[in-house]
Amino acid sequence: MRIAVIGTGYVGLVSGTCFSEFGVSVTCVDMDAAKIERLRRGEMPIYEPRLEGLVAANMAAGRLAFTTELAPAIEGADAVFIAVGTPSRRGDGHADLSYVFTAAEEIGRALAEQRTEGYTVVVTKSTVPVGTGREVADILRRVCPNERFDVASNPEFLREGSAIEDFMRPDRVVIGAHSDRAREVMRQLYRPLYLSETPMLFTEIETAELIKYAANAFLATKITFINEIADLCERVGGDVQDVARGIGLDGRIGRKFLHAGPGFGGSCFPKDCKALVRTAREAEASLSIVETVVAVNEARKARMADKIVDACGGTVAGKTLAVLGLTFKPNTDDMRDAPSLEILPRLAAAGCTIRAFDPEGVAEAKKLLPDLLYCRDAYETMEGADALVLLTEWNEFRALDLARVGRLLAEPLVIDLRNIYQPAEMATARLRYISVGRPSQLGRA
Ligand code: NAD
Repeated sequence: MRIAVIGTGYVGLVSGTCFSEFGVSVTCVDMDAAKIERLRRGEMPIYEPRLEGLVAANMAAGRLAFTTELAPAIEGADAVFIAVGTPSRRGDGHADLSYVFTAAEEIGRALAEQRTEGYTVVVTKSTVPVGTGREVADILRRVCPNERFDVASNPEFLREGSAIEDFMRPDRVVIGAHSDRAREVMRQLYRPLYLSETPMLFTEIETAELIKYAANAFLATKITFINEIADLCERVGGDVQDVARGIGLDGRIGRKFLHAGPGFGGSCFPKDCKALVRTAREAEASLSIVETVVAVNEARKARMADKIVDACGGTVAGKTLAVLGLTFKPNTDDMRDAPSLEILPRLAAAGCTIRAFDPEGVAEAKKLLPDLLYCRDAYETMEGADALVLLTEWNEFRALDLARVGRLLAEPLVIDLRNIYQPAEMATARLRYISVGRPSQLGRA
């Protein structure tokens, strides 16, 4: 089979590469010529574990190619995936669909000019509000009246940092389509997963679109719930880790996404929750839970800056903070809506100097947080700092030499917004330890 993937970002590049690994012939298209040039040279434009090796292997096997030219890429393709960005629209929080609609127009024009008389399924992989599939179909029909295509929705559930594994071994594949022919093309494309008994859910297009938003809003709600329970623990004296374990062992609740922290960020949850709220408002349906999640999460990021200031004795003016972790989560270089973007400018405005390190996020962070002092590794970051702040739980921050941390810091204070250490080990290392939703007194030196 042959496919084209439009948009070579986190989703398009991973999906295209994984489909080529399944044996499909894939052409990835992006309008960013510099990105395509880098990919052709075998350089990855993003950090994603295992991606580089898979791209190289499939390019070498002749199954994966990169281009800026959309029309030749989709000539004779069985399916064309739209995997362009759908960021929050400025002002109203709705998904900005301009990239999707532009891509649909370009695909339609190219389909109309095809030399071969084939059949193509145009698949929306981008996260798009309910009704977008219908609009994509309208655009296609307008510019390509030959009707030799169908539209489908195939939302993507991969997580940055484990994207390859998630694509290759998903919990489920959701496919929204109105025609049997489109469903059959999609079934063939996902054949390796079908054979490994991955649940395949065939739905109407509108339902598939909603499943993606409902999934993200639910996960964001779960995180926000445990974050609020963490706040309660701090007031009344519980340990949120134990509460999370205690409730998560209940099969109806589940243990995942019950880690208290500084508030969710990333390229999906914040924008998708806002877009879903917007959809509900337009439909005059109540979605107050998700509205509250958005508001609570935004307020939380700001409060985390206050928490750090409080831990530093009520002021950070003239002090130096060592910050480890800038990306919104580990194993990615993605800085979109990362809590660091809210927390660190507030601290800087309060008068402190920030020394920072992130294993993969520094290049991106420098564009967004240009005033930080970037260091080469975790320990250099701590030299002479008045406190260590752990913002992202990269593995390499999980096993710091605490005696060395104590020697490097000017003040023995560790503020861990990801709960990656135990209060008792910090107490042994004579480090004052502040974490999220757990007793902090234990760590007082
Ligand atoms: P991204 O910003 O990393 O990549 C989008 C790419 O599309 C860019 O390289 C851009 O140059 C390209 N592009 C835009 N318009 C184009 C056009 N007309 N022709 C060719 N290329 C074009 O975005 P992403 O993070 O990969 O997200 C893509 C979609 O997938 C979004 O809707 C997002 O919500 C969804 N999604 C993302 C994730 C994730 O973890 N990042 C997970 C699931 C779903």
